[in-house]
Amino acid sequence: MVGGGIAGLSTAWELVQRGREVAVLEADRLAAGATGHTTAKLTALHTLAYDHLRRTRGPAGARLYADSQNAAIRHAAEIVEELGVDSGWEEAAAYTYAEHPRLVGELQAEAEAAREAGLAVASPASLRRTRVCRCAPPRS
Ligand SMILES: Cc1cc2nc3c(=O)[nH]c(=O)nc-3n(C[C@H](O)[C@H](O)[C@H](O)COP(=O)(O)OP(=O)(O)OC[C@H]3O[C@@H](n4cnc5c(N)ncnc54)[C@H](O)[C@@H]3O)c2cc1C
Repeated sequence: MVGGGIAGLSTAWELVQRGREVAVLEADRLAAGATGHTTAKLTALHTLAYDHLRRTRGPAGARLYADSQNAAIRHAAEIVEELGVDSGWEEAAAYTYAEHPRLVGELQAEAEAAREAGLAVASPASLRRTRVCRCAPPRS
């Protein structure tokens, strides 16, 4: 396996689980590239993916994507449990937000498409507009 980030290490792990002998070749340090700087959030919600998928791949395509994301998260949770990784694993709600009222319609379409794809999403009708203050940094 070339590269010891999350992709290479996960693939190596899966191969070893299936009885293969694997060598990981890492040019620098393990998990020190993009993987070392991730915010470590696993989510099935990816900006406005579901509305796009529903339009381009149909509802079945969007559902397949949602199912694959949820399965991957469940699989990661199982590995964390199995290995007893002290990762601070925590389940939390995911939010998608817009910075301008004109984008609220897109959020509503995304919420509807994500719910249709099987994600537990708050009803679009319950989405409300929230004013956010852009605060300037304190003057020194
Ligand atoms: C600030 C930030 C926040 C992020 N937050 C999230 C998040 O919350 N959730 C999420 O899912 N994703 C997040 N991501 C994205 C995620 O971190 C990356 O998609 C993921 O880490 C990529 O993993 P990787 O294994 O493909 O690449 P890398 O982690 O970059 O690993 C590739 C490795 O391959 C090695 N390599 C390259 N070429 C060679 C070679 N020729 N020979 C040997 N070794 C080589 C490199 O040295 C490196 O260690 C975030 C990314 C950033 C930058």
